[in-house]
Amino acid sequence: MDIFFLGTGAGIPAKLRNVTSIALKLLEERGSIWLFDVGEATQHQILHTSVKPRRIEKIFITHLHGDHIYGLPGLLASRSFQGGESEVTVFGPKGLKEYIMISLSISQTYLKYPLKIVEIAEGVIFEDEQFIVEARLLEHGIPSYGYRIVEKDRPGTLLADKLVEAGVQPGPIFRKIKGGETVTLEDGTVIVPSDFLGPAQKGRIVTILGDTRYCENAISLAWDADLLIHEATFSKGEEKLAFDYFHSTTHQAAEVANLAGSKQLCLTHISSRYDRQAWQELVTEAREVFANTDIAEDFKEINIPSK
Ligand SMILES: [Zn+2]
Ligand SMILES: [Zn+2]
Repeated sequence: MDIFFLGTGAGIPAKLRNVTSIALKLLEERGSIWLFDVGEATQHQILHTSVKPRRIEKIFITHLHGDHIYGLPGLLASRSFQGGESEVTVFGPKGLKEYIMISLSISQTYLKYPLKIVEIAEGVIFEDEQFIVEARLLEHGIPSYGYRIVEKDRPGTLLADKLVEAGVQPGPIFRKIKGGETVTLEDGTVIVPSDFLGPAQKGRIVTILGDTRYCENAISLAWDADLLIHEATFSKGEEKLAFDYFHSTTHQAAEVANLAGSKQLCLTHISSRYDRQAWQELVTEAREVFANTDIAEDFKEINIPSK
C-alpha cells in the first residue's frame, strides 16, 4: 500500500507543483489503483510514472473546484484508448454526474468500459471484504469531503506445521481453517481455527482530506490513522487568510493530526507563493505541533507498511 502524489499544488498549475491528484496504490492488495481528485493534466503527470490508467479502479473526488476535477474527463477518455476495459466507479459530491456526462457527451466521447458515478452523502460510501471507505463533509466554500480508507484486519497466517502435527493433511481442511471455520476430523478431533492461525494482521488507515478550514470532522476522519494527508495552503500566522478562503495553515493541519492521534502527517495543496526553500519552513513549523510531519512533492511516494 503506497501513496503516490501526482499533483500537490493549490489553485492553478505551477512549474514545481501540478494541481491536486493523489494515487493510493493497492497493487499488492487488489491489483488496482484508487485516485483521489484529478486536477488538470493529471494524465500528463501519469506519463512520467509507472501508473497504468487501466489499473485505476475507483476515483474519489473531494469537491468540485476546478483544480480538483479539470483533469477528470480527459483521464476517463484516455483510459479507453489505453486498453482500459474494467469498470471504473467515480465517487463525489452532487453535480459530479452532470459534469462528467456533459463533458463526455459534448465531446462525443464513448468509453469502452462501464463507468459508474456515485454522488455521495456522509457515511460509509464503499465496503467490500477488504476495505471500508467513509466520507464526511469538511468546511470549504462548496461541499468538500474527506475520505477515511480503512483496511479490514486480515486473518493470521496458517500454522501449517502445527496442523500436520495434529494429523491434518494439506487440502480443503486447511482452507476452511484459514477461513475461520471450526472443523471436526473423522476421528472426532475438533480443530479450532484460533489455535492454528498466527496473530491477525491489523488493517491500515489512510485519511485523505479535501480542501478545508480547520474543523471537527477532519479530526474524526483522521482518528488513529496511519497516514493523514491534509491540505496546508498557508503558513502559520495566516490563520485569518486561511479562514477567509476556507483553507488551513500548517499549524492547523498538524493540530488535526495531533488531536486525532494520527501516526504520520503529510502536508499537500501547497500554494505557489511558497518556493522550494519555503517548503522546508512549512514542515518545520508544522513539526512544532506534530513531529512526524512531511510535505508532499509531485511524484513523491510514501509506503504504508503492514503492521
Ligand atoms: Zn484546491
Ligand atoms: Zn477548493
